Amino acid sequence: MGLRDRGVEIKTPGQLDAMRRAGLVVGQTLERVRAAIAPGVSTAELDAIAEDSIRGAGATPSFLGYHGFPASICASVNDEVVHGIPGDRVIGAGDVVSIDCGAIVDGWHGDAAFTVAVGEVPAELARLLEVTEESLWRGIAAARLGGRVTDISHAVETYVRGQGDYGIVEDYTGHGIGTAMHQPPNVPNYGRPGRGPKLVTGLALAVEPMVTLGTHLTSVLDDDWTVVTDDGSWAAHFEHSFALTPDGAWVLTALDGGEARLRELGVPFGGR
Ligand code: MG
Ligand code: MG
Repeated sequence: MGLRDRGVEIKTPGQLDAMRRAGLVVGQTLERVRAAIAPGVSTAELDAIAEDSIRGAGATPSFLGYHGFPASICASVNDEVVHGIPGDRVIGAGDVVSIDCGAIVDGWHGDAAFTVAVGEVPAELARLLEVTEESLWRGIAAARLGGRVTDISHAVETYVRGQGDYGIVEDYTGHGIGTAMHQPPNVPNYGRPGRGPKLVTGLALAVEPMVTLGTHLTSVLDDDWTVVTDDGSWAAHFEHSFALTPDGAWVLTALDGGEARLRELGVPFGGR
């Protein structure tokens, strides 16, 4: 193991099973929040649904109290990219809402996010969401045993750049995940392939492209959390936590383990 691989936590099969339990709590919680998103609902109400779902499953919300974060989800609307704080804001038709959620089961973490359009939105916005979600899957599909972490980064960027003139946020990245929500290595959403730690059995990563209709540049609001685009362009954010097993990728936060999408993309499914 080389210097750059230091600090990368490699999980046993039993530990990955525990991470799958955490991932399923996250996946099921996100589906409950998704079902509740509608005009007239506040982001605080969505947060309450998420916290009930996580605690009801016997898990712990990992975001709550993380560096002082006051909620169990991040809810980021329109030009907010990530880390929006749930509160009084009421969702309206035509908004684009990103929900990010994390849970801990027996000390193991899961982390995932999605973005959804509320009612009818312009075609370019609907397309932004499709492109961002697909780039996440292209990134996971590029994670092959024997490769390197930035093979994922390169696949995300290559897909997004091939779809049009989008901004790919560089200030925030995916990450290793396991006994902590954020671990080495970082997983950028751009860059050359073949760099970073090796992709080996037992590695678990969260991949999370953040893509905008304009600039890649972002700033943090005065609440010290909410990340917004510098030009006010709207953004999308999709995330899954996945692990590599001897058979391939296992998407721990996808309800089907990622099997359907990975098979569509023609890559091995490593779940069980
Ligand atoms: Mg997340
Ligand atoms: Mg994450």
